[in-house]
Amino acid sequence: DRLVTASADGEDQAVEAALRPRLLEEFIGQERVREQLSLVLQAARQRGAAPDHVLLSGPPGLGKTTLSMIIAAELNAPIRITSGPAIQHAGDLAAILSSLTEGEVLFLDEIHRMSRPAEEMLYMAMEDFRVDVIVGKGPGATAIPLELPPFTLVGATTRAGLLPPPLRDRFGFTGHMEFYAPAELQRVVHRSAGLLDVEIDPAGAAEIAGRSRGTPRIANRLLRRVRDFAQVRHDGLVTREIAAQALEVYEVDARGLDRLDRAVLQALLKLFGGGPVGLSTLAVAVGEEAETVEEVAEPFLVREGLLARTPRGRIATAAAWQHLGMTPPQSVRA
Ligand code: ATP
Repeated sequence: DRLVTASADGEDQAVEAALRPRLLEEFIGQERVREQLSLVLQAARQRGAAPDHVLLSGPPGLGKTTLSMIIAAELNAPIRITSGPAIQHAGDLAAILSSLTEGEVLFLDEIHRMSRPAEEMLYMAMEDFRVDVIVGKGPGATAIPLELPPFTLVGATTRAGLLPPPLRDRFGFTGHMEFYAPAELQRVVHRSAGLLDVEIDPAGAAEIAGRSRGTPRIANRLLRRVRDFAQVRHDGLVTREIAAQALEVYEVDARGLDRLDRAVLQALLKLFGGGPVGLSTLAVAVGEEAETVEEVAEPFLVREGLLARTPRGRIATAAAWQHLGMTPPQSVRA
């Protein structure tokens, strides 16, 4: 339910379709992945064949689903979208694979969460465009080979390191998605504002971008909340001041920290002098479960260089003191 979470909520799903870039050249940022992918796709088009299977890895909300749809659009191919958790039995996968048409793109989100038997079936399908469908049980069971049309698998994972090597090796190309730079997110906000008919000036877009944690999904969500504020309290135009005021109402600060993130930092600085302090003590101090602090708040604080996890406990960095407008003790300044 946090405004700054990178995973999609119901409202996101409804508007995201409208905000998705359709072609590679409309896709903002991720220069390296875009260039690499454009070569893979262009070469396949020239050869008139399906391209190698593509793996996209990176945190949620950076555009993996969007890119998979772009791949299909660039190949002029239909796309089928499913996810690892939806495929629990090898039979589920066999049903999907056997209904693909030639050249179709199969997008498998959260591919690291597929069941083992399905994964093994996928190896053969990716390599030989063939699956063995097992009919019957016990000693009488027989494997019936089934030919598949050539297709392109686009797998997405938040953790490429979790994929078993045999699966990873069957992808011809892996695109590593990175968090977006503020200038790129500013372009994302500007583009989305245009599609949503929101009037915004460049400083307004920059203000939203700076609070979006490097993630387009968050940028689009903050833009919608700022739009409400600009429309209800003002004349609709989003400027830097309006964006800042709106996001203050929603407790998202200038660096993208929300109430929980700030509570963790405040406890660390004010109650424990900046640490080191153990995770469970810190969690009690903010009235949250240790897992919530560790999994929800800390990753972004660590990424931002505000908090460090050390064997002796959590420590605030000089940047954390500065961010909360407090003077660090001599030991931190040194
Ligand atoms: P998840 O893994 O959680 O499904 P994802 O990485 O697949 O996330 P998408 O659903 O593709 O993320 O993107 C989230 C939103 O961000 C979409 O509305 C999409 O339009 C927007 N978006 C992502 N990347 C870009 C981009 N490069 N340019 C413009 N908009 C983008």
